[in-house]
Amino acid sequence: MMSSARPIAIVGAGPGGLMLGCLLQSQGFDVSIFEADSHAGARRQGGSLDLHADSGLLAIEEAGLRREFDALARYEDQCDSFYDQEGNLLLTRDFSEAVRPEIDRGQLRDLLLAKLAPGTVRWNIKIQGVASAAEGHRLMSDEGDVGRFDLVVGADGAWSRVRKLITPQTPQPTGLVYYEWDIENIDVLHPALAALLPRGKIGAVAIDRGLIAQRSSGGQVKVYLLIRDDAGEIGRLNRDTRVDVSELLHHLDGWSDSLRAFALAANGFAQFRSLCVLPGGTAWPSIAGITLLGDAAHVMAPFGGEGVNMALEDARQLAHCLVQNSDWNAATADYERAMLARVKDIAERCNAAAFTWPRQTLAMIEKIRAQPSAVT
Ligand SMILES: Cc1cc2nc3c(=O)[nH]c(=O)nc-3n(C[C@H](O)[C@H](O)[C@H](O)COP(=O)(O)OP(=O)(O)OC[C@H]3O[C@@H](n4cnc5c(N)ncnc54)[C@H](O)[C@@H]3O)c2cc1C
Repeated sequence: MMSSARPIAIVGAGPGGLMLGCLLQSQGFDVSIFEADSHAGARRQGGSLDLHADSGLLAIEEAGLRREFDALARYEDQCDSFYDQEGNLLLTRDFSEAVRPEIDRGQLRDLLLAKLAPGTVRWNIKIQGVASAAEGHRLMSDEGDVGRFDLVVGADGAWSRVRKLITPQTPQPTGLVYYEWDIENIDVLHPALAALLPRGKIGAVAIDRGLIAQRSSGGQVKVYLLIRDDAGEIGRLNRDTRVDVSELLHHLDGWSDSLRAFALAANGFAQFRSLCVLPGGTAWPSIAGITLLGDAAHVMAPFGGEGVNMALEDARQLAHCLVQNSDWNAATADYERAMLARVKDIAERCNAAAFTWPRQTLAMIEKIRAQPSAVT
């Protein structure tokens, strides 16, 4: 086991930052993770994530968490169905042969947190900036200087503060906006909706908008109402607002009652968001003592479910590079070169799906339905 007294700061306790913390700590590295949330349960962690055999699951294995993961994973939810806006079923796909098990985002976070030594995550510290020191970098929070580190890893998500030190690039709107809300206990409280969404995920798509509803564990459902907003009008009006879901029903005028019921069953408010991405292939010259992973490096559209998988794979690859090379500047440069090459095409593909949504989805449904073996 390699040990190091040189301190490493990871900014952000999302899946990428926590995975890197687990992998480095198990190799004897001195790791601190700084997280803006005040504690582990400070906010709901959101919906379900599918981990892929050639990326996210490799990191889970390497962290020694496969048994714990499998105890929570939902292999039965690897499936989706599509409806038209009148509520007619167009297509059902079952991917249970594939290895893309689903897990709640909160469960994944808890698994990783449980693996870390107590006190590794320093909650309620929002990093505002990074200042160069004689050796390494100093992290600055709202409260002031939180310490000097030989290596700072920005795992602080789409709107990363650490990224500002590396590149002026920021995420750009895709023209797609969405409202998201939750439905609780669907099987007991909303059996008609549960019949439309027995497992996995459903989508209903019209010409410039759509509904996606996805199961998490315990009958929880995350619902998204997506709207094309290329002119930016909805975005301008709603920036970061919370909206009563009943006020959104007009977006579903002409839709079947069976689908509008996903809005009527909402538990609480909807959160508005504009889907923003970094262009695929965004790169930067390597900087000594500082690097990025996950959404901070390459936030991409969620179509294809690659974001968390790339974050976990980044963590795995960066840990390998640091274990193998005690020259950390060379190690992070190697990691960045390979990571940027690995992610470029994936990000371009996922982002293209957002820029062309829902045309691409409608075309995909038509193509599959035209096949004689289509599963409907
Ligand atoms: C609607 C939607 C659905 C998605 N669905 C999927 C999916 O099905 N499959 C998939 O693979 N991906 C999905 N993604 C993408 C996925 O959520 C991200 O790619 C993934 O969470 C990235 O992990 P991360 O650790 O890099 O960043 P994050 O998960 O964003 O974590 C960053 C952490 O840093 C903290 N932080 C931020 N700024 C600071 C600061 N200044 N100081 C301290 N802490 C800070 C945040 O609080 C957060 O805890 C989806 C994304 C969206 C928006």
